[in-house]
Amino acid sequence: MRKETKDQLRSVRNVRVQQTNRQVSIITIIKTRKKMIERTLSIIKPDATMRNLTGAINSIIESAGFRIIAQKRVKLTIEQGQKFYEVHKDRPFYDDLCRFLSSAPVIVQVLEKENAILDYRELMGSTNPINAAEGTIRHRFAVSIDQNSVHGSDAIETAANEIKFFFSEIEIVG
Ligand code: ADP
Ligand code: MG
Repeated sequence: MRKETKDQLRSVRNVRVQQTNRQVSIITIIKTRKKMIERTLSIIKPDATMRNLTGAINSIIESAGFRIIAQKRVKLTIEQGQKFYEVHKDRPFYDDLCRFLSSAPVIVQVLEKENAILDYRELMGSTNPINAAEGTIRHRFAVSIDQNSVHGSDAIETAANEIKFFFSEIEIVG
C-alpha cells in the first residue's frame, strides 16, 4: 500500500477513535446523572391533612417511585412557619402563607429517588392548580393557589436546608 494511503487510513481511524471516546464519555455522563439519588423535602399541607388526604397523596408519591425515608406529623407555630418560608418574606402573600401553614397539622417527609427534586416538582404540578397538569397532586387535590396541598423543595441546596429544618440524621432511614 502506498504511504499516503496508509496515512489517510490512520487519520480516519484516529477520528473514529476520538468520536467513539466522545460518545463513551457522553454515555458515562448520562448514566452517572441517572444514578444521582437525591432527597427532597415534601410537606402535605393543612388543606390536605384536614381533608384526610395523607394516605391518598402518599400512595401517589410511592407509586411514582419515591421512597418515604422519613415522615412525621407536626403542628407548626406561626414563627416556625415564618422561618420555613423566610425566602418569601417580601411577597404580598407571606403573612397569609405562614398563617395557613401553621393553621393545622402538616406531614413533613423526606423523599428519596433518582432526580427526586425535579421529579417531585413535576409530580406536584404547578403552584396554581389552574395550571397544574392532569395526574399531578395539585391538579387532583389543590383547592386554590394558597391551599395547594403540597410543598416540594426546588433545588439541591434548598432541599438540604429544608430537610435539616425538620429532621435530624437519625430520623432519616434510607
Ligand atoms: P411552590 O410551592 O410551587 O414552590 P412558591 O415557592 O413560589 O411555590 O410559593 C410558596 C407557596 O406560596 C405556594 O405553594 C403557594 O401556596 C403560595 N403562593 C405562591 N404564589 C402565591 C400567590 N400569588 N398568591 C397566594 N399564594 C401564593
Ligand atoms: Mg417553592
